[in-house]
Amino acid sequence: MTLRAALFFMVTHALVIGLIGPEDPVGSHLLLMTAPLLAALACVRRARGSQAACKWRTLGIAVCLFSLALLALLYRKVTGIGPAEMTLSSLLLYVFYRIPLTYVAASPGGGTRCIRAVDLVIIALLWLLYFVHTQALAHLNTALWMQGLSTMSAVQNSLVFCFALIRFLAEDNADRRDFFRTLTIYALGYFLLALYINTFQPQVPDGGWTDLLISGLFVLLAVMAGSPHRAPAPAMPRHLRRIVDAGVPLMLPLLLMMVALLVARLHPTLATIGFIGAMLGYALRSVLTQVEIQRQRDELELLARRDPLTGLGNRRNFDESLGSAHRRARRQRLGLAVLMIDIDHFKRLNDTYGHPEGDRRLRAVAAILDGCLQRGDDLLARYGGEEFIAALPSPDPAHALGLGERLRAAVEAAVLPAPEGHVTISIGVAWQAAGDDREPRDLVDRADQALYQAKHAGRNCVHAAPPAKAEQARPGQRA
Ligand code: GH3
Ligand code: MG
Ligand code: MG
Repeated sequence: MTLRAALFFMVTHALVIGLIGPEDPVGSHLLLMTAPLLAALACVRRARGSQAACKWRTLGIAVCLFSLALLALLYRKVTGIGPAEMTLSSLLLYVFYRIPLTYVAASPGGGTRCIRAVDLVIIALLWLLYFVHTQALAHLNTALWMQGLSTMSAVQNSLVFCFALIRFLAEDNADRRDFFRTLTIYALGYFLLALYINTFQPQVPDGGWTDLLISGLFVLLAVMAGSPHRAPAPAMPRHLRRIVDAGVPLMLPLLLMMVALLVARLHPTLATIGFIGAMLGYALRSVLTQVEIQRQRDELELLARRDPLTGLGNRRNFDESLGSAHRRARRQRLGLAVLMIDIDHFKRLNDTYGHPEGDRRLRAVAAILDGCLQRGDDLLARYGGEEFIAALPSPDPAHALGLGERLRAAVEAAVLPAPEGHVTISIGVAWQAAGDDREPRDLVDRADQALYQAKHAGRNCVHAAPPAKAEQARPGQRA
């Protein structure tokens, strides 16, 4: 809703109140019903393309229910039913309107389907408590009924405001931040207005000036929903934001406990159910969240160790697993072989066929190498751009060299097209006996030097590192 349209609406409402006034409150009442509808419309429109789409829509539903409550109130006035009865307007205002409003302020959102189901169960319990509370009050006399409703109102409205404010301060997503900013302003306005009306004007709407305050709040909501606001980044320190994020799941159970406390005098059994529901709900939610975090951590761990292009382990995975491969080989009383594998003239292949085709060759070579190393203990990883590395238990240097030759021959036999005919690989092999105490990293350096020699020897060949114990000086940089 634009500012001009909002002003036009407010002036019209003011004129209706000023010219007609409480003598015929229907005109003002109709405008009062229109304001939340306009706000609902603005919220639903705002949901389009927003990252807080679900929250905007739910807020839209809440204010729409408020408008329905006003319609029911109008009907009640026309038919003359007294306030000390459970009417449709009370049900809509004190039971139905609160649920979506509470949900957007207190529900953490996201999470798995099971976690969301727990939130919904807590919301359903809240709904039940509101319903029974409103119904139980309806049997009391008018004064007690009004007092009970206004206490419940104040607790609920103030909590919605507090929750919205905390989440606004801690939210770092711009879209959601703007949503919680709007909700905070609306909830504060609603809390103050409800407090004023419940204390001084319980007969509202009556066609008087308080009607203008109510429609003003909804028009303000419509304007805020209609004009996205780029709120500056949260000023809250990061560690506090983490605490809020972790604490948001407490909001719904906390609210349920507060409401259970208010209901305790009227309905002790239901209050007990509310308490137990809040505690069990929170505990169940925590367990489910832990399970989900654990699952995400495992997935991240896997991603951090995998090369996305070839599906093989990456260099990090190799570096971290080399020590255990070494220990495993020693336990089997076998030596350890490391093979450094590099695709020949790969740059030329990329330059001729393009990068995507180069990627396909990389995947094909990776699959061939993987197919040749079939033992579970064998380590194979993508070490760099077009370099692979393998580490595996091997009884002697001849066996390691033979394996290298098998890999080279397998790639050659696949006849993968390349500018100079087909794709070939060069391999440097280093081997270390089971009794050798040197660090396995030493093997990697030696295999690298052997690869360098294989390249120098004309490529498409396997070269073994000399069994020397001493470090060999690296004769320059590999091409
Ligand atoms: P040599 O036979 O001496 O190994 O020559 P080379 O061309 O294979 O080696 P060089 O180091 O000169 O070039 C490696 C090329 O590998 C350069 C780079 O563009 C390419 N490369 C590295 N990573 C990737 C990748 O993920 N995808 C593709 N398509 N190419 C890659
Ligand atoms: Mg290469
Ligand atoms: Mg290379």
